[in-house]
Amino acid sequence: MIEKITIIGMGLIGSSIARNIQKHKLAKTLVAADLSEEVCSKVAELGIADYVTNDLARSVEGADIVILCVPVGAMGSVAASIAPNLKDCAIVTDTGSVKSSIIKSLDGALPDSVDFVPAHPIAGTEFSGPESGFAELFDGRWCILTPLPDTSIKSVEAVTKLWEAFGSNVDIMNPEHHDLVLGVTSHLPHLIAYTIVGTANDLEDDIKSEVVKYSASGFRDFTRIASSDPTMWRDVFLNNKTAVLEILQRFTEDLTELQKAIRKGDGDYLYRRFDETRAIRKEIIDQGQA
Ligand code: NAP
Repeated sequence: MIEKITIIGMGLIGSSIARNIQKHKLAKTLVAADLSEEVCSKVAELGIADYVTNDLARSVEGADIVILCVPVGAMGSVAASIAPNLKDCAIVTDTGSVKSSIIKSLDGALPDSVDFVPAHPIAGTEFSGPESGFAELFDGRWCILTPLPDTSIKSVEAVTKLWEAFGSNVDIMNPEHHDLVLGVTSHLPHLIAYTIVGTANDLEDDIKSEVVKYSASGFRDFTRIASSDPTMWRDVFLNNKTAVLEILQRFTEDLTELQKAIRKGDGDYLYRRFDETRAIRKEIIDQGQA
């Protein structure tokens, strides 16, 4: 059991972590901090932490582990505001969806006396806020750690143990590789969903109402993804520019090939591509990640 853990940012991810820490009795004291008064009241009402505060700097006093669960673009300023109050040898970790830019923005903001262990749980929903969290969110899902060359092994082990206690499997990657892989598996699909739903939204009113009325599973699934938090996703794209633009370039080339095949009536090409992609779905199911 850890003496004191502080979570900053009590939305979907922060509140799901809090629920896990409570459920598995992982900390003697759990402090929840969020800038928003409204979020703090909700967290207090839900009873998922021992103390709730909107004073971020004071929330980390004496904490052994501090978990940053704010949007990617807010990580640097939050780190700077808590830095003077962090105790020596504290572990700071995060949950941000992009790793390289967070590492860059925290480098310099945090004192040398603390250890930073960058982390990203590959689990989430399209909902946000403390009421949308749940303890089972991380069950059987991956959490990727991207430690720096000077991160102590002891701190990496402590964060690994925490995620394993939440039910996750932990993997280690370098930050740039993480950003490229997640660019393919998460960021590009969100961008495509936002585009498809945006295109439907720009249609004339009469067509738009029919799109909603006859919404088949394809479009409906895209609307679920495209209802994800706009702040979170704005920050993801602004902070994973290189990887997303690289993947988007490849995607555009592949889309052009499909466009060409449709125009030329090349059914064999279309069939081959669609048949190949089915295999990926099967692999995801086989690996229990569906
Ligand atoms: P969320 O539900 O929107 O929660 C974020 C919380 O942080 C909100 O309570 C927000 O308050 C608060 N906040 C915003 N700016 C802040 C600041 N400067 N200082 C303190 N608190 C601040 O978002 P989430 O889905 O939990 O995501 C949290 C982090 O986890 C993000 O970095 C995201 O990239 C990452 N992540 C998300 C998912 C997912 O599927 N959602 C999955 C894996 C990782 P307001 O509501 O008042 O702004």
